[in-house]
Amino acid sequence: MIEARELRKTYETVTAVDGVSFSVGTGEIFGLLGPNGAGKSTLIRMMTCLTRPDAGKCRISGRDAVAEAGAIKSLIGIVPQENNLDRELTAWENLFIYGRLHRVANLRSRIDGALDEVDLRDRSGSLVNGLSGGMKRRLIIARALLTDPSILFLDEPSIGLDPQIRRQLWDIVRRAARSGRTVFLTTHYIEEAETLCDRVGILSKGRLIALDTPTALKELVGPYVVDRITDDGRLIQHLVRNRDEAVELARTLENGCTVRRTNLEDVFIKLTGERIE
Ligand code: ADP
Repeated sequence: MIEARELRKTYETVTAVDGVSFSVGTGEIFGLLGPNGAGKSTLIRMMTCLTRPDAGKCRISGRDAVAEAGAIKSLIGIVPQENNLDRELTAWENLFIYGRLHRVANLRSRIDGALDEVDLRDRSGSLVNGLSGGMKRRLIIARALLTDPSILFLDEPSIGLDPQIRRQLWDIVRRAARSGRTVFLTTHYIEEAETLCDRVGILSKGRLIALDTPTALKELVGPYVVDRITDDGRLIQHLVRNRDEAVELARTLENGCTVRRTNLEDVFIKLTGERIE
């Protein structure tokens, strides 16, 4: 269980997070969606006790993220954005060193379990240098799973990966949630938020402007879109309540209209007037 209340963080003149409140339930996959600079990393850093908020509270499994950081660190696993594995060592050695540093009990069997959970058992003896980008991401997830955390935080887990590889990663995240872990991730990929997350919080300029299931967020603005290209080449989008209304509108407008379902990018544009990607 994660609870954030009125979290705020300012860096000199930039207000990175501006009064954000939400809660995430046990076993949920929660996604924070927003463009670069929205404040996602700052928020995840405050929740994982890496950055101190200027104001507000964050509680992880009932513990305060500032006063009880030590206790929280044993409950959570963190998958950072950067690839900070030791490239000269094997996958297994990376996990072993991390596990020793974190005093993981029954380390050898935990390493096997974590490698199984990310489908990398057969690469345990491979040097990190020889692993693909997707495998390295999976190894970082295995490292975060070593302590058997009840909450897994992932900062932009599939950034820079091919769509195919991204889907494999989503399967691993789903598996983690099915095995009872709460998952909190940040992303600027629409599809990742839409297909992977049970609920999505939309972050813009440090503010949480909407939070709900992907379906409910799309219903909020209208589940169908009529895209129209004007004579001078501009794209105009009409968000519509139902399919019949969308088809009727497309018929009454000029040629060149297409009807499609709304996605979370449309929701973001409707609520902020800006694009995510
Ligand atoms: P996101 O993860 O959504 O890209 P960030 O949390 O990294 O957003 O950044 C939010 C804002 O805070 C940005 O304007 C960024 O430049 C600023 N920011 C983040 N970290 C720092 C820092 N350590 N010092 C100064 N400004 C920062």
